[in-house]
Amino acid sequence: CGIFAYLNFNITRERRYILEVLFNGLRRLEYRGYDSAGISIDSSLDSSNADVIPPPLVFRQEGNIESLVKSVYQEVAATDLNLEESFSIHAGIAHTRWATHGEPAPRNSHPQTSDAGNEFVVVHNGVITNYEVLKETLVRHGFTFESDTDTEVIPKLAKFVFDNANEEGVGDKSVTFSQVVLEVMRHLEGAYALIFKSRHYPNELIACKRGSPLLLGVKELTGEASRASFTDTKFLSSNGQPKELFLSSDASALVEHTKKVLVIEDGEVVHLKDGGASIFKFDHGKGKSGGTLIRPAS
Ligand code: GLU
Repeated sequence: CGIFAYLNFNITRERRYILEVLFNGLRRLEYRGYDSAGISIDSSLDSSNADVIPPPLVFRQEGNIESLVKSVYQEVAATDLNLEESFSIHAGIAHTRWATHGEPAPRNSHPQTSDAGNEFVVVHNGVITNYEVLKETLVRHGFTFESDTDTEVIPKLAKFVFDNANEEGVGDKSVTFSQVVLEVMRHLEGAYALIFKSRHYPNELIACKRGSPLLLGVKELTGEASRASFTDTKFLSSNGQPKELFLSSDASALVEHTKKVLVIEDGEVVHLKDGGASIFKFDHGKGKSGGTLIRPAS
């Protein structure tokens, strides 16, 4: 029943710090009620080489935040993941779930994923009312489902859209991350706030919403006055300045980080990339990947 994301840009953060920001975000959302929780982070340093991008890591747990925290640290201790590994840019996402479709269980917790390679991972608040028909279509195209959630169609649809736009092969990206998400949105009915992370678009995040709350928070980390302002047409330029970007379903998870918070409107798609934020307005009638850039990043 809550979503949260943390993206550090041009500021070095250790894995331990990134994990704690995500866990704290979830703790702030706890009061809204939930039955499970999960996060997705990167497995290795600044994955900028498209050929060697490792899959995002996904951790999911039924029960309270502290049992997720415990299981993540156990997993870290059991593998060669290093808590001191530092990232100058990293995009992490987190979720607390209040089950609507499928019992509380790790496999039904979020992030939900597109495939074993975690090409697309998604956290979702809300309900997708037409998930059954989408699921049937995806099954016909060879997708196998692991959860009983309505949410799982979303990352799988993203992979389907991506694969169809990139028949030449992985790594040859003819679509942008926002085009993929706008095309996915075109098929979704119901209420949602979503955050997408993808192996194909490392260090980027996309969020969108219809009927469920979503906020963007920005913390500028330089002393200089920033030109970026939420009312500018240059919405938040990717000017290379170190910053921290946050997405949350609830202001309670943002206030400790920044007062600079933008309420995302229904039908808007927020693309965080290269330290900038662009907002697209989803145009339902405009056909494939319909979207108008209303607040460009630069
Ligand atoms: N409908 C989704 C599920 O049951 C999301 C529930 C929520 O908002 O937490 O998994």
